[in-house]
Amino acid sequence: MAEMEDGTDISTLAEESRDLLDDAVAMRRVLHQWPELGNDLPITREQVLGALEGLPLEVTLHDSTSGIVAVLDGAAPGPTILLRGDMDALEMPEDTGLEYGSKVDGSMHACGHDTHTAMLAGAARLLSTHRDQLAGRVLFMFQPGEEGHHGAKFMLEEGLLDVPALADGSPSPVDAAFALHITSSLPTGWVATKGGPVMASSDRLTIRLSGKGGHASEPHRTLDPIPVACEVVQALQTMVTRRIDVFDPAVVTVARITAGTTSNVIPESALIEGTIRAVSESTRRKVHDGIRRVAEGIAAAHEIEVEVEVVDGYPVTSNNSDFAKFASSVAGELIGAGQVVQLPHPVMGAEDFSYVLDRVPGTMMFLGGTPHGRDPSTAPPNHSNRVTFDESAMATGISIYTAVALRHLQ
Ligand SMILES: [Zn+2]
Ligand SMILES: [Zn+2]
Repeated sequence: MAEMEDGTDISTLAEESRDLLDDAVAMRRVLHQWPELGNDLPITREQVLGALEGLPLEVTLHDSTSGIVAVLDGAAPGPTILLRGDMDALEMPEDTGLEYGSKVDGSMHACGHDTHTAMLAGAARLLSTHRDQLAGRVLFMFQPGEEGHHGAKFMLEEGLLDVPALADGSPSPVDAAFALHITSSLPTGWVATKGGPVMASSDRLTIRLSGKGGHASEPHRTLDPIPVACEVVQALQTMVTRRIDVFDPAVVTVARITAGTTSNVIPESALIEGTIRAVSESTRRKVHDGIRRVAEGIAAAHEIEVEVEVVDGYPVTSNNSDFAKFASSVAGELIGAGQVVQLPHPVMGAEDFSYVLDRVPGTMMFLGGTPHGRDPSTAPPNHSNRVTFDESAMATGISIYTAVALRHLQ
């Protein structure tokens, strides 16, 4: 990893990135108008391939998803650094009123992945012009399916990290990975990250309670699942506060309870659904066990049958502390150290870049993109139907992707 003082000169990158901003904005706006969901993103893939055309890249199209892997060989041998940009949108309406708003009913780029795709394409262009300064390879990972569809996992399974040997026969293992995520809740021109866990795991919880239905006036002749469901919901919160270390926290949110049909019928069953978040694998497993214990114990106490299902979602996203420091320092050189925020704690959202960081040390960093003239604390957040981003932040993003790769491979 690079020493800052005598590292590759990155002082020109801010200006070179600004020169690429118009193209990045144009590409982003096309993607914004044609948002695609999940792992099959044909329009987006075409746009990316168009943006990469003519660059000295070895491009591989994945089969299991619309993932694209583009590899840039540096002038000298060395390891590979992976740069990630996710490409998918969200299933929701757009109410921004932007002239380049979504043309697809019920789909919106509300998480800014359109900016990530355009920034990564911009970084591929810029790094291509700095190829002679690279000792190693840059792998550009354009991934689909980040919003709950495990796109990164599919790309890993399809050989994302199996980079071939260099022309001289020497290996070039992927030894670092870096991703940016734009947020409307951080001022434009700022970045934020931290070493260690940076985003939570996210698992899906379903509890089915089955009793015996009957007349609402004669509960003793039934096995009423409704008060039992209420008791389970309360007990889950007690379990979290009493059994989970406050400094290694978890969130269990019951977001939906379904039971009954009318006011004078005791239903046969009740359904509880929710989400589980944690920032360590040990707490995550402890919470899973605790949910089963509590739900099964309470149900048994009332002679109700219970079925607990926990479906694992994304694991905890953990930054390598040394790489987080390195990326923060490189970003500080570009934008000023005062605009690089060390997050005091992880964000409880989840990311499937976690799958990559489970295999390769690296860092995910948030990129500020509060729309012009808005307050970061009140601007509509990512995933809002009204979220907008300051597109000029993309120049900062392109320069940071590029600088991190240049410095890592110097
Ligand atoms: Zn999102
Ligand atoms: Zn996102």
